[in-house]
Amino acid sequence: MKIQVIFDKAAVDRKMKTGWGFSVLVDDKILFDTGEKGEWLIGNLKQMNIAAGKIEGVVISHNHWDHTGGLWSLLKTAKKNLPVYGCPGFPEEFRKSVSASGGMPVKSGKFAEISKNIRVTGEISGNYKGDPMPEQALVAKTENGISVITGCAHPGILKMLDEIKKKFKEERLFLVMGGFHLLDEDKRILDFIVSEFKNMGVEKVGPTHCSGPKAEAAFAEEYGENFIAVKAGVTIQI
Ligand SMILES: [Zn+2]
Ligand SMILES: [Zn+2]
Repeated sequence: MKIQVIFDKAAVDRKMKTGWGFSVLVDDKILFDTGEKGEWLIGNLKQMNIAAGKIEGVVISHNHWDHTGGLWSLLKTAKKNLPVYGCPGFPEEFRKSVSASGGMPVKSGKFAEISKNIRVTGEISGNYKGDPMPEQALVAKTENGISVITGCAHPGILKMLDEIKKKFKEERLFLVMGGFHLLDEDKRILDFIVSEFKNMGVEKVGPTHCSGPKAEAAFAEEYGENFIAVKAGVTIQI
């Protein structure tokens, strides 16, 4: 199975747009988050020769503009009634906007399988600047084990991985990638998080977006060749 990075803060190709947001395509058909702007998402999909009409579902990690921003334009060019998986705790307004744009809002169930071997974690409670910010991650299963993609990890990256590990006790954690929200953490906390990843047996890591340069450096140092530099235009085999 493959994960293609559609939008991120850096890109492999100067023709691709970059910015503050995140979006990846999993297994050629499930889009996880949509970046900050429709025009940029659609443009990057074109650059990567991905037809919007082939997308079979969209997972929105959490209701922040840098993850939902591209959704509205995408829904206009994608299949009619495209399922959009959001946390039950997202505001009703979100689901109304999805319907109004031609999509089909779906409240994610706990570890619901949305496509073969691809699951959403369902809602994990989190906070952002003192307000509740429910979030979900995506879990893909292959013969290598399970791979996890996070948006911002506002509930806490370790808390999210803990829930996922409980569900998949027997599985290896092959890859954890996405936003880990560690921008403001000091070195001591970052080192602890990196060591917990190791303790959990996470084989490969791809911190990006709101993980922050210090966290990326700490992971890169510990993981060596198993550190993946995530950028728009990159394809990762899992
Ligand atoms: Zn974010
Ligand atoms: Zn966020």
